[in-house]
Amino acid sequence: MKVLAIGAHPDDVEILCAGTMAKFAKEGHETYICYLCNGDKGSAVHTSEELAKIRRQEAYNSAKVIGAKSIWGGLADGEAVVDVKSRAKAIDVLRQVDPDLVITHSPGDYHSDHLNTRQLVFEATYLASLKLWESDYEPSTKLPFLYYMDTLAGINFEPQEYVDITDTIDTKIEMMLKMESQLGWLKDMHDCDAPEFIRAVAKFRGFQAAVPYAEAFTQQKMYPQGMTKRVLP
Ligand SMILES: [Zn+2]
Repeated sequence: MKVLAIGAHPDDVEILCAGTMAKFAKEGHETYICYLCNGDKGSAVHTSEELAKIRRQEAYNSAKVIGAKSIWGGLADGEAVVDVKSRAKAIDVLRQVDPDLVITHSPGDYHSDHLNTRQLVFEATYLASLKLWESDYEPSTKLPFLYYMDTLAGINFEPQEYVDITDTIDTKIEMMLKMESQLGWLKDMHDCDAPEFIRAVAKFRGFQAAVPYAEAFTQQKMYPQGMTKRVLP
């Protein structure tokens, strides 16, 4: 399969579903991580231009840990609004990959960039296949499965499926550690130690699933997708 994870900011996929992406990669699937926004607001030290450049490199370094291809959306933070420009961007991302499975933010998320990313991706999964939507990329050839990843700290998220990430929790943390510019920012802004945060949430989801470490997901149900088989690893 081709598996595409789309997060709003560079570090969302790392925090919320990188263990599963690492698992897909390990199993030999083609993996792609799209960072829809450029993360250009998360610093008290750098200018937006400097920060976007730094975070693009960090995103590349993170995806590289599992051999995933990174796709840079380039929208400014706070500008992933649901409009035609952002919709066209999301459609192009879908068309570039033509994925079998897409993972993005949950409709129950509480950050506007995350919520808008979810809405844009949801729309794009269908629109990308329409030949009469013109863009530089060929229309996608299938309607991908669409899954939603956990929210930060699991707030307002009721899991439907779990993935055992016991064998990839360290890889997940290794990916997050590539987001060097964010480690200090998260600490200063939210008093959050990112690796500790990731381990604690994975441990909690692991308790729910009766394994040491897990990630949690829900599925967007859509006709005409087959609903009788498990798609996640
Ligand atoms: Zn985010």
